[in-house]
Amino acid sequence: MTLPANHFIAIAGNPNSGKTTAFNRYTGARQHVGNYPGITVEQKQGYAHLDGIEISLVDLPGTYSLTAYSMEEVVARRVLADDRPGAVIDVINTGVLERNLYLSVQMMEMGIPLVLALNMMDEAKAHGIEIDYKQLEQNTGLPCVPMIARKGDGLDEALRSAVELAKKTNGRIKPLELSFGPDIDAALLEMTPIIEEAKLLTDRHPARWIATKFLEADEDVISLATKADRATTEKLNKICSKVATHLNTTAKTYPEAIIADYRYGWIHSVLSNGVLKGADELMERTVFSDKLDLVLTHKVAGPVILIAVLYAMYFLTIEIGNYPLEWINSLFDWLHRSVGSVMSEGPLNSLITDGIIAGVGGVLSFVPLIMIMFMFLAVLEDSGYMARVAYIMDRIFRLFGLHGASIMPFIIAGGIAGGCAVPGVMGARTLRSPKERLATILTAPFMTCGAKIPVFLLFVGVFFQDNRTSVLFLVTLSGWAVALIVARILRWTIIKGEPTPFVMELPPYRYPVLSGVLIHTWERTWQYIKKAGTVILGISILLWAAMTYPGLTDEAKDNYISQREVVYNNSALTDEQKEEQIVEINNTEAKDSLDCSLAGKVGKAVAPLTALSGFDWQTNIALIGGVAAKEVVISTLGTAYSLGEVDADASEALADKIKKDSHWTKANAISLMIFTLLYSPCFVTLMVIKRETGKWRWTFFSLFFNLALALALSTVAYQMFK
Ligand code: GDP
Ligand code: MG
Repeated sequence: MTLPANHFIAIAGNPNSGKTTAFNRYTGARQHVGNYPGITVEQKQGYAHLDGIEISLVDLPGTYSLTAYSMEEVVARRVLADDRPGAVIDVINTGVLERNLYLSVQMMEMGIPLVLALNMMDEAKAHGIEIDYKQLEQNTGLPCVPMIARKGDGLDEALRSAVELAKKTNGRIKPLELSFGPDIDAALLEMTPIIEEAKLLTDRHPARWIATKFLEADEDVISLATKADRATTEKLNKICSKVATHLNTTAKTYPEAIIADYRYGWIHSVLSNGVLKGADELMERTVFSDKLDLVLTHKVAGPVILIAVLYAMYFLTIEIGNYPLEWINSLFDWLHRSVGSVMSEGPLNSLITDGIIAGVGGVLSFVPLIMIMFMFLAVLEDSGYMARVAYIMDRIFRLFGLHGASIMPFIIAGGIAGGCAVPGVMGARTLRSPKERLATILTAPFMTCGAKIPVFLLFVGVFFQDNRTSVLFLVTLSGWAVALIVARILRWTIIKGEPTPFVMELPPYRYPVLSGVLIHTWERTWQYIKKAGTVILGISILLWAAMTYPGLTDEAKDNYISQREVVYNNSALTDEQKEEQIVEINNTEAKDSLDCSLAGKVGKAVAPLTALSGFDWQTNIALIGGVAAKEVVISTLGTAYSLGEVDADASEALADKIKKDSHWTKANAISLMIFTLLYSPCFVTLMVIKRETGKWRWTFFSLFFNLALALALSTVAYQMFK
């Protein structure tokens, strides 16, 4: 091809959409028919003249899809990938717009600049179909031209748009990255970097597109990949079969079906908000979903139902979860007491009872509650309702300078409850605009992730017995409110820029499969337990050591020993009185020892900073530990309380200890909940922020900005409620 790329245009489309008619009108006699090298699929090539320039045209074989099921599809795809036309005129039979767009989406996923030529407008009009082109252009981001190929209407406009587009884009646009739901998205996120790193076919296709093809079990791509790099191909296939098995067991479906569903979901929303009028056919495929959506995503009813659903979820979680919570608490009580009494006094005893059982036990005791919450979450996700949540929130998000696609990262980070900021921050990759992506990354950690939830549950249980659900609900809403306000401020100040348009994908509703819900629930719960047994265990031991050593000086110890001797030898006291006084002395000694431990010193050093927020230095230790992982807030409070008191009830649940401790008031609890919700993201999240933004600057921003914000707001709260 000697012509510059922007003078080489391909015509693509479904069979019988009018491609050849258009091609013949463009090229007249200047065409020749040949076979695509090595394959007996007819291919027409020719030249058109427009505004004094010569344009080379190719008429691609008609296909409904680009999945390589047929030779036609393989050829169409190879021409698009290898010959690289500057742009493609996508000839569409407007009467069946939805089905025709299925091919367009796939070309957009390949990163090919398209002009949507809405052909057969005469027929469409006769059928009463009307189209709002401006809206369609906005929704797709593509130029749209009405056309009647048989009469020659719109042909020049389409070609002119294509040449302009080719000039502007140089033959490549940023590939459309659709979300295909949590399971497929996770696999894509895992596969894409592998493909990029191995440079597997990336000279021809976008990495994410290749990954999608692997998941669609595309033989053409997989065989090309095997030839290029067998080891990497095998690695990718392994990930694919894992997802495939998972989808089969949890949802009785397979990746291709899900991917197709989401593509249609996208098309569906592209055609919504008034683009298309009078096309009954469009409504057939998803009648049930549509009817449901009329209510569930209704402007007024939608948000009301959403709030009701979330409230119900919280209510049920807390009400049902309270029973197992008490059982587990008494189990750990018993464990603490028996281990404590079986083992002889000493550092090892203290490590196991105060460090491990009180620390990790505090985290584990919330497993049943968390599990119930995860179960509701799985139902919301598997049914397709979660996508609607995003849809409903979209309007609100725009007001705050975020993108509609920011919602999924928020939800993954714990927007509903019990997520994790790490995949949340990574999920922001689906955002195209770097600025909106950055704003999303920096605000997603304000959500109520699974590690923060135990803190809220603990204090809600102690101080808000009568309206636990409302308070927990309020905490979640506060997370959203702060995230949105901070995003707004960031988008007005350091991350300024215009919002980009967004089209929401709505997959059809499905009945959740019970086994699927159970598996999803268990997967998340197991993650939680595993983390408690590994990372949190490790940090608990470290913090126990920091709270125990260097300990009291010998002199101080001797002082307590002699105090006890005085009590023993005092014949004026009854045995009961003696015991009482000894416990008193023991407690003072324990507090004293915690005082002069390493952690005690650190906790006290920052005490002036946190005094206005109502945190004592034990809480400070817990909060500092919480930067390592948020679960540590609970485990450290558990250890601190366990170390600080050695009376007969030392082993009772943390909640009971806090209830009895007169230093703890509602104001402290509110302040601590606000602080925990908002302060610095945990260590892993900070590292992921560095990796995703590529800059330490944003890691430090998250660390210090969030800390300052949390401190300020918790201070205000404490001073207000004190
Ligand atoms: P291809 O398979 O995409 O190459 O489609 P063709 O160009 O062969 O067209 C299929 C049929 O649609 C032919 O009978 C054309 O005459 C007819 N056709 C093409 N464009 C139009 C149009 O704009 N309006 C109408 N009513 N018919 C058209
Ligand atoms: Mg044809």
